Amino acid sequence: MDAPEGLTYSVPRDLGIVELGERVEAPLGRHDRRATGYVIELGVAADIDPDKIKPIRRRTGMRLPPNLIELAKWMSGYYCCPLGLALSAMAPGAVKHESRRRTVTLIRPTGKRPVEPLPAKTDEAWRAVLALPAGSFPIEPTALKDAINAANLGPINRLIERGLLERYTEVKRTELFPGPAPSKPAPVNLNAEQRDAVGGITATLGSFAAHLLFGVTGSGKTEVYLRVLEEVVARGECAIVLAPEISLTPQLVSRFHERFHAAGVAVIHSGLSPAVRREHWMRISRGEARVAVGARSAVFAPFDAAAGVKLGLIVVDEEHDGAYKQDDAPRHNARDVAIRRAQMEGCPVVLGSATPSLESWRNATLGRSRLHTLRSRPAGARLPRVRVVDLADELRADTSNSARLSFVGPTLREEIARTLDAGGQVILLLNRRGWASYICCPDHRCGWTLRCDQCDVTMVYHRDRALPAGGVVRCHHCLSEQLLPGACPVCGKRVTTFGAGTQRVEDELARLFPEIALAGAIRRVDSDSMRGAGMYHDVLDAFRRGEIRILLGTQMLAKGHDFPGVELVGVLNADTAINLPDFRAAERTFQLVAQVAGRAGRGERPGRVVVQTFNPHHPAIVHAANHDYETFAAGELRVRDRSGLPPIARMARIVVRNEQHERALRDARRIARELERIRESSPTLRVHGPMPCAISRIGDRYRIAVEMLAPSPAPIQAALAALRNAGLAKSDAATAIDVDPIALL
Ligand code: ADP
Ligand code: ZN
Ligand code: ZN
Repeated sequence: MDAPEGLTYSVPRDLGIVELGERVEAPLGRHDRRATGYVIELGVAADIDPDKIKPIRRRTGMRLPPNLIELAKWMSGYYCCPLGLALSAMAPGAVKHESRRRTVTLIRPTGKRPVEPLPAKTDEAWRAVLALPAGSFPIEPTALKDAINAANLGPINRLIERGLLERYTEVKRTELFPGPAPSKPAPVNLNAEQRDAVGGITATLGSFAAHLLFGVTGSGKTEVYLRVLEEVVARGECAIVLAPEISLTPQLVSRFHERFHAAGVAVIHSGLSPAVRREHWMRISRGEARVAVGARSAVFAPFDAAAGVKLGLIVVDEEHDGAYKQDDAPRHNARDVAIRRAQMEGCPVVLGSATPSLESWRNATLGRSRLHTLRSRPAGARLPRVRVVDLADELRADTSNSARLSFVGPTLREEIARTLDAGGQVILLLNRRGWASYICCPDHRCGWTLRCDQCDVTMVYHRDRALPAGGVVRCHHCLSEQLLPGACPVCGKRVTTFGAGTQRVEDELARLFPEIALAGAIRRVDSDSMRGAGMYHDVLDAFRRGEIRILLGTQMLAKGHDFPGVELVGVLNADTAINLPDFRAAERTFQLVAQVAGRAGRGERPGRVVVQTFNPHHPAIVHAANHDYETFAAGELRVRDRSGLPPIARMARIVVRNEQHERALRDARRIARELERIRESSPTLRVHGPMPCAISRIGDRYRIAVEMLAPSPAPIQAALAALRNAGLAKSDAATAIDVDPIALL
């Protein structure tokens, strides 16, 4: 139900007492279409004709705690999105849609033998069944079909008809935690900084307080969360721990599972099957799991204070991470929702990072949150030594093969060789997928470049030797594909490619280190090479065991992993983000370089980092190399202050999208005009635009932006409300409203 304030229904007597937050079924619209929604208010509507009120049809049995209804109302207001959308974000689909009992069909042999000769096809299938290894049964029908190489289920059905195999069904078990039961972890002694942080945070349990735990990579932040959580659990309260892309960091989940398995741990992220998600969610709402660990959506874990399950702490690990921001409606930032929820529930919130967002850093320096700093790595591990090399010098110095451009310069090449000789492991980062990012005409006078015909971006070449053209070109925005053109369509010259991606570097590594490549010890990790989280975990496990020596990949690799064997980290091109037309380009570059550098030197041997860049004097790179967040942040905040940008100012952005350029422009102008009118009574509001977005077209729709800035949230909130009242700011397919945007492309 998309009506902003909800609709009014009556409750028939035979439905019993309906409670706040219940999910109910009710007739909607002129034809009484069946719809479901949440009860967001209870009471007698005095101002509506009772004859016009329709009755609720059915209670579904599912219920959101009242505190989440309150949170959804706040989100709907703050992020300027329909309440229905905010509510729909509160619970996973699997919880809302009542599940049938989930059963699986399985097949097993009956133990009988054929009494008469089988027809040829059936006989072939039977022999294949007999040849399967012991322990293959029971098996699902399609898996059996594949295992015996049958074209369809026909032969299997024949074998069932003859009584050789049997089919039966079983209720599917939901495996909440794959893998072995947790072991008791060895206790560690906190160092003085960790103790101070734990003490400072623990002292505020029981009421709202915001904390920033600023600790260099590997400084033991997780250990701090764990200790504070022990206190929370001892008080009989519950906690939420958020981590970006938790499906990629199973070690983190197991650390929480080890410690809190008695209090009950629930996991929430989109990589789980619907049945498992539902079960975890239900365990939280029944009070069986008191620690919820998860990605963005875990901020909505259904702890219900009214039912005696009190939320005592929210932790947001790697709080700077862009994965906390949802980029479709409701466009919220789970970190900021976490702060708001902590305020509403009266508990502390801890934001942790080695590279805090400038928003959080500024809040800490202004005293809005308490700062706890961990400056060193425990147990003698040192921060790695970082060497910045100028790619211009590297290219000049590179005499190894003049015909081919190389992406691993001589300095990095030497460091990799040295590390491999000494038995160490290497992580290489390149934040660009595919073989090449540009396909163009070699003739500058012609200047043709292959662009997507639906989007204002260049197409990326992905090599695939199995294809006749040697690969495909793909648009990373609308995902459209075509074969690689051989010749320039304008002048007919043979096309060239440049802008190396991970695939191409993988190819170069194989040439530089042939023995390592032959041993299968070089692996590429990006969303093209990894099918699903399971495959990714397998690669990381192999890396942890030392079977993989060089791991090459995109920013997936920069996140939160702890590999003691990594001696060398190489950043192949630190400039991939630096020149983007987004005021956070420097901040993002700093974060990426500092985070990936932090993967080196976590074991006994000291780590080294080589950063290749064409901008060796850029502050983001210089300070990341010195592990000096504070100087970087101070400088960057001055830049933002001078230009009146976040976090000094607050921002909201409206993007109008339409297949017709004039239409998009007309709608954007209308919004800008209305904002100019609002400005007359709200002088601190600044309005920019209409202007084309940096990517001016995506998926065949033109994109035109209007931005508003103000020194505090209030004028922005007031302006959005006024737009909404004027019918100009409906958050829908044609208009995207982004409050506190983090990406401006
Ligand atoms: P972060 O979350 O800051 O990256 P972690 O909490 O994961 O850091 O700690 C990094 C490593 O150091 C982990 O292997 C952890 O077990 C270990 N560690 C943390 N605190 C201590 C300590 N006080 N003494 C010894 N080892 C510690
Ligand atoms: Zn496209
Ligand atoms: Zn040409």
